[in-house]
Amino acid sequence: MFRALVLEKEGDAAVAHVRELEESALPAGEVTLAVEYSTLNYKDGLCLSPSGGGLVRNWPHVAGIDFAGVVEASEDARYRPGDRVVLTGWRVGEVHWGGYATKARVKADWLVPLPEGLTTRAAMAVGTAGFTAMLAVLALEDHGLEPSRGEVLVTGAAGGVGSVAVAILAQLGYQVAAVTGRPETEAYLRGLGASRIVARAELAETVKRPLESETWAGCIDAVGGAMLARVLGQMKYGGSVAAVGLAGGAGLPTTVIPFLLRGVNLLGIDSVTKPYADRVRAWGRIVTDLPMTQLEAMVKPATLADLPSLGAAILRGGVQGRVVVDVNG
Ligand code: NDP
Repeated sequence: MFRALVLEKEGDAAVAHVRELEESALPAGEVTLAVEYSTLNYKDGLCLSPSGGGLVRNWPHVAGIDFAGVVEASEDARYRPGDRVVLTGWRVGEVHWGGYATKARVKADWLVPLPEGLTTRAAMAVGTAGFTAMLAVLALEDHGLEPSRGEVLVTGAAGGVGSVAVAILAQLGYQVAAVTGRPETEAYLRGLGASRIVARAELAETVKRPLESETWAGCIDAVGGAMLARVLGQMKYGGSVAAVGLAGGAGLPTTVIPFLLRGVNLLGIDSVTKPYADRVRAWGRIVTDLPMTQLEAMVKPATLADLPSLGAAILRGGVQGRVVVDVNG
């Protein structure tokens, strides 16, 4: 038997209950794991919502797009019982049962060995949000960003992706400007290493002029929409924006002028189907470049039973930092 937060359709709406299930209920897969920790991302909020957020199509369902745990049984030579592993992406928790359970069964290809120096709990403090922040930093570095080039902007800074991005960039020696709509998070963001706080309202208006003063050497954008359009016109010559999220909207009301006159780069970041070698690289850099004390400062602990209300909160932009779910708690 194992315990899971099961989403079940009651009429038109999916409702969550903590249930005891038989192991035979697990989906097909080569590796069976004891899950130790999971987490909460914006996408988890969508999956936990009564409609499944357009991501969940079949019920009953176990959500949780990320988890870390210990291999119990493996039909794949790459993994043996006792190995500690982490999983993010691959639509686990959306179309495949995910991490809001004490057991999971998945394809071996979706797993990454937990790097030395990282606990399963710390891996879930990172989760898809932090992993994506690291992918964004790597993309900016691969396009020439270095601290001497100037300030780097992080939008949606008090959220999961933003918080980890601020901490990594500050640790690497960058001057970090953090955009937030929650002024009460200023002390938190400065504690993570932000040197400047930018009010969301300052960047929320749609583009009036295609180019403004050259301000940012780089940007990690979790918001999209009008804010991303504004930021593109404020980039320094040759600067890059890593487009990560759409918390503020999926549209992009901009012009091509920043690309043509300032050589600005817009870099797309996908964490879901990132190839294995890139995943291993990113997890390795997380160990070296994300200070564990900063990571711990972001953590809000939770249990399976807390998830329905936390899922609703993250969709309202009401979660600060990273939720870590102790599935045995
Ligand atoms: P969070 O909800 O934790 O963070 C999002 C933050 O964006 C909020 O905390 C808030 O920050 C800000 N925000 C929310 N609503 C608005 C708005 N209307 N206008 C401007 N800012 C807003 O989510 P995550 O950090 O988990 O994810 C952030 C985004 O990245 C999501 O859109 C998610 O889907 C996407 N994502 C994409 C991935 C990929 O592979 N590309 C992987 C992971 C996430 P503040 O309060 O500081 O203003």
